[in-house]
Amino acid sequence: MNHDQSHALFTRAQTLLPGGVNSPVRAFKSVGGEPFFVKRADGPYLYDVDDNRYIDYVGSWGPMIVGHNHTAVRQAVKQAIGNGLSFGAPCEAEVTMAETLTRLVPSCEMVRMVNSGTEATLSAIRLARGATGRSRIVKFEGCYHGHGDSFLVKAGSGMLTLGVPTSPGVPAGLSELTLTLPYNDVEAATALFAEQGEHIAGLIIEPVVGNANCIPPREGYLQHLRALCTQYGTVLIFDEVMTGFRVALGGAQAHYGVTPDLTTFGKIIGGGMPVGAYGGRRELMAQISPAGPIYQAGTLSGNPVAMAAGLAMLELVQEPGFHDRLSASAARLCAGLEAAAADAGVAVTTTQVGAMFGLFFTDQKVETYAQATACDITAFNTFFHAMLERGVFLAPSAYEAGFLSSAHDDSIIDATLEAAREAFKVVK
Ligand code: PLP
Repeated sequence: MNHDQSHALFTRAQTLLPGGVNSPVRAFKSVGGEPFFVKRADGPYLYDVDDNRYIDYVGSWGPMIVGHNHTAVRQAVKQAIGNGLSFGAPCEAEVTMAETLTRLVPSCEMVRMVNSGTEATLSAIRLARGATGRSRIVKFEGCYHGHGDSFLVKAGSGMLTLGVPTSPGVPAGLSELTLTLPYNDVEAATALFAEQGEHIAGLIIEPVVGNANCIPPREGYLQHLRALCTQYGTVLIFDEVMTGFRVALGGAQAHYGVTPDLTTFGKIIGGGMPVGAYGGRRELMAQISPAGPIYQAGTLSGNPVAMAAGLAMLELVQEPGFHDRLSASAARLCAGLEAAAADAGVAVTTTQVGAMFGLFFTDQKVETYAQATACDITAFNTFFHAMLERGVFLAPSAYEAGFLSSAHDDSIIDATLEAAREAFKVVK
């Protein structure tokens, strides 16, 4: 593959953008080499500036669940643009979006639109603190909730990739208020709440961890956290920025049958535009300004073009059988990857929930963050590049989940597995 144009752009970018990128993991730091620069995207494919084509399992880090450049989403955006780009005053699409989100995720009786997942989680934590009058929060090792100060403690994803436990620039006084727990460990959560429960404002969790590869919850784990939060008056926040409308139409809370107090969204609800949202029980959300005293605002929040893109995508994911089909494709991909690895004599296990999957270079079942980080990262990096050379783009870090879209049909999965059979031989 020729990468001359990408190389030239990356060279230019590095003098102007920190690390040459606008978000760290894009820089290929943990896998080595240089990123390709995208010219356009369509269906399951990305096309780079050197005209190489890749089957894409990153999907813009989650939003593109109907594939890239879907006609219905594009048309909705075109139509919205015809009426102007931003109003700074309420518009109908915001109400329709709120109706859609509250209908599809019933634990959200009210929602507030923001512009990113980070804004959603920051706002949810402020609400939890404001509503309870407490300051401590709990997060889980390997869970990423955006780049807000309070969350940059053992945050998985980019920070794990770069090997930083806590970011410089976060005041110690603030990070001390963030308590961390090992994910999927019932006893540790029980012990922490027994000790500090009445000081904990909110517990935030990725119900399926997608920022330390992909780790599903053990049976009953989320239910246990729900019970602890109820017992101690702590606000349970499901960060469904990644899992929302992906693992099931109603998100992880529908899939596992656990009702949080607040939920944060992003990615899919913007259809590829910059959007986030948070929502939850009415008496909590009614404390947000201007209905209540807890302040949160945004110049572009509820942007009409972003609402149009998100609403079009949310229409598509409501088609009967949409998530079942995606889940079946993901299961087929995972089974095929395991079989291909076994044929090549490479130890690999996979995880999968709906249209989200994990690939671990280990022969162990992975249920904890410690197990996820103990996998063979060198093997992953070799596999990543071997796949890229064969036209398959996996997330450029061993600590990211993979995403399927409805454009990943059987022929795309077959082509991926064909590439994987060769790539595993390179790893061996
Ligand atoms: N929460 C989760 C679970 C995420 O995966 C992400 C981003 O990947 C965020 C929050 C932050 O979202 P954003 O990057 O839109 O700020």
